[in-house]
Amino acid sequence: MLNCVLVANRGEIAARILRACREMNIETVAVFSEADRDSLFTTLATRAVCIGDAPAKSSYLNQDALLTVATHCGCDGVHPGFGFLSENAEFAQRVCDSGIKFIGPSPEVISLFGNKNRARALMREHGVPVVPGSDGLVATVDEALAIAEGIGYPVLLKAASGGGGRGMRNVFSAQEMQQAFETAQAEALACFGDHDLYLEKLILNPRHIEVQILGDSQGNIVHLGDRDCTLQRNHQKLVEEAPSHVLSDETRAHMAADALKAARAAGYESAGTVEFVVNKDGTYYFIEMNTRIQVEHPVTEMVTGVNIVREQLRIASGLPLQFTQDDIEVKGHAIECRINAEDPENGFAPCPGTIDRLNLPSGYGVRVDTVIHPDFVVSPYYDSMIAKIIVYGRTRNEAILRMRRALEETLISGIKTTIPLDYMLMYNPEYISNAIDTGFFERNLAALLRPLGEGAEF
Ligand code: ADP
Ligand code: ADP
Ligand code: MG
Repeated sequence: MLNCVLVANRGEIAARILRACREMNIETVAVFSEADRDSLFTTLATRAVCIGDAPAKSSYLNQDALLTVATHCGCDGVHPGFGFLSENAEFAQRVCDSGIKFIGPSPEVISLFGNKNRARALMREHGVPVVPGSDGLVATVDEALAIAEGIGYPVLLKAASGGGGRGMRNVFSAQEMQQAFETAQAEALACFGDHDLYLEKLILNPRHIEVQILGDSQGNIVHLGDRDCTLQRNHQKLVEEAPSHVLSDETRAHMAADALKAARAAGYESAGTVEFVVNKDGTYYFIEMNTRIQVEHPVTEMVTGVNIVREQLRIASGLPLQFTQDDIEVKGHAIECRINAEDPENGFAPCPGTIDRLNLPSGYGVRVDTVIHPDFVVSPYYDSMIAKIIVYGRTRNEAILRMRRALEETLISGIKTTIPLDYMLMYNPEYISNAIDTGFFERNLAALLRPLGEGAEF
């Protein structure tokens, strides 16, 4: 088993990983920026080391500092969490070169899936359906126009190195192509240092459904069922559920088999997620594979009983999976609300500041992943997600009722959060009847912002 793990992240996901290590008697090193000096996650580690100033570039993205601390503290593993360096193949390689285990897949696999265009090609080769689109990169506006003409509008320009919903532009007609191409390219270059674009047909009103994968170093690969992450804003997930309630048994089985195919094609090790967009008729297409722990992994943990971070640590220690596919049973339903420090009434502007009063929900079937507390300062330097509220129910309806109750108990004052929206969502008739697609949230924003009226009851 690994002896000492450096957690190269912050906030709730750092806490999530540190807690798992502690339960496994693995020593830990937390790293923190000057802005996070007083953050709770630093106290959950055996040791905590300041690695730089508040801006992520000076701290959580500072590879030299992270490697120095890992080596100096005698760490034999580095867990990158999500965001930051979690999908950076160069960092993974440098960790390996230092004789330390990177807790995730190999640098080659990260690099392969990090380029979504190459990932598409690999999936095609292995018979996994991909969204109709370009065969490779699209280098010029003229090329994009020709491909779009062939597959028909609307289309979606996407950054090959994209993530976090960035570097994507819808294109509804030839007239829009030039500008969309230029802005997508500029955003891709600014966000990812790579302006490469590819093109997909824009699937209208799809759902986003993904499959959780776990593979060990012996080549055993299992899936832990699916998650429905259809509720999005700006291509970013807001509320996630497990399992999806719109898949037929047959489609679910096919999708899981295709996700396994994708993982096997790459010789996948550790936890990963294969993402699909799904049409109303159940046809689905691979969009990308995320080679890291996912924000929404707790909903899968709730319905399978598998501690995914623990499994990542066991796999990284060279241990085989202790279960086979037949042992995995999906039971009940789980819902996660991401709580963001943002003002929904003001274009979701980030709302850093000090939390003065705080009450977090608890009780039967409720899990809260967070490091906030009264007097906690939400920093302007990082992602605005400050907590995740996760509930479990025997059925989806029971989970919705429990989420309402959990959100009613939740009080976060001093800053604005997305909680009122989540609460309204739990009363929205279309959400309750699960008649949603990825555009649902943005289309219904005005209604969701209105205070609760008659409400929908079961
Ligand atoms: P997931 O499917 O795991 O939710 P996301 O693409 O939503 O993946 O984001 C993963 C993580 O990447 C986020 O939790 C956050 O830490 C980081 N991230 C998300 N959006 C952005 C962004 N706009 N800029 C930088 N990092 C981001
Ligand atoms: P990221 O790396 O930023 O997460 P994805 O390729 O996963 O990028 O796309 C983000 C979101 O955009 C998806 O969850 C889905 O809602 C939407 N999306 C992506 N590709 C398509 C497509 N071809 N048609 C319609 N929606 C898409
Ligand atoms: Mg994605």
